[in-house]
Amino acid sequence: MTIPLSAPSLTDRERTYLLEAYDSGWISGMGGAFIPRFEAALAQQVGRKHCIAVSNGTVALALALQALGVGRGDEVIVPALTFVSPAAMVAAAGATPVFADIHPDTWMMDAAQVDRLITPRTKAIIAVDIIGHPCNYDFLKWTAGDIPIIEDAAEAHGAQYEGRHVGSFGDVSTFSAFSNKSITCGEGGAVLTDNPDLARRMRIIANHGQTPGVPYMHEVIGQNWRLNNLSAAIGLAQVERWDELTCARQRVAQQYDAALCDLLLTTELTRRPVAPWAKESCWLYCLHHPERDRLIAHLKANDIDARAIWTPLCDLPIYAGSCRGEYPNARHIGAGAFFLPTSATMTQGNVEFICATLRQAL
Ligand SMILES: *Cc1c(COP(=O)(O)O)cnc(C)c1O
Repeated sequence: MTIPLSAPSLTDRERTYLLEAYDSGWISGMGGAFIPRFEAALAQQVGRKHCIAVSNGTVALALALQALGVGRGDEVIVPALTFVSPAAMVAAAGATPVFADIHPDTWMMDAAQVDRLITPRTKAIIAVDIIGHPCNYDFLKWTAGDIPIIEDAAEAHGAQYEGRHVGSFGDVSTFSAFSNKSITCGEGGAVLTDNPDLARRMRIIANHGQTPGVPYMHEVIGQNWRLNNLSAAIGLAQVERWDELTCARQRVAQQYDAALCDLLLTTELTRRPVAPWAKESCWLYCLHHPERDRLIAHLKANDIDARAIWTPLCDLPIYAGSCRGEYPNARHIGAGAFFLPTSATMTQGNVEFICATLRQAL
């Protein structure tokens, strides 16, 4: 593919830190100096007290669930339209993911649907800030009451809800640093919280259940979900470039908006909506059209790696037991939404070529 869906932006800063970590000899997830620096930088960026770096954004969710005590017999409400990790980690914990439909105006999990799905077994709610847009946290928290919220902010670095950064809303919030995410170290992730007890528990679970400072004393059943120091070095450089990297993607989104504005007014092509209370931070530029598959085929034939959005989770047979009623909004968006290539490194020329190709197909 000439234009990939997403490519990382790596500079001398990443290279310098990576080589410093390499030369230090501390390459694992224990003892390396870049791990606490990455954690402190991310916590400060998002405005949280505690951050624990982990090996990817999927285990970050598993860690949050385990720390909150989610297990067999419990239900966790997750959106019907998201990347699969939230549902998969709930199921892997032995609990049942329960799907809530999304709101057509925001594509975010609809708090009114969440309200309908809460039962005495509901142990947590996973709110996903999908495609660079925050959930409506006032409505969601009011709905949740005492039920803890895990915020999955993997796709929304830099987005804000009422002036506050995503990643600061969940009882536990998670990020991914996979290579197509806005801030990346190849494979990586983090959990953030303001709750010191949860922070301590998560740090212990992610490190073999071992009591801090007491080798081979394991106080809970743990995992090895640590981030290694080489990845943390790249991650620190990326967090230090946060504004540059998130603004660059937002600039690409604005270039798409400008290049497509007549089509957005005169054809069935629509842009992913942004709520008036939200500040979007583009991850992947996302559109919707009833003939999505035909458009993608034409883009792919021209070496442009456009992609259909995820299959709604309610349509995956393995999650049939997670459906409660119908999911008209998740299915409508799932049938028509698609991503255009989006990277901090993309040029205006790339955007113009992609939009001209899309225009041909339309
Ligand atoms: C990418 C992503 C994840 C998973 O992150 P990995 O680091 O790839 O494991 C989890 N949730 C959402 C919403 C994502 O987009």
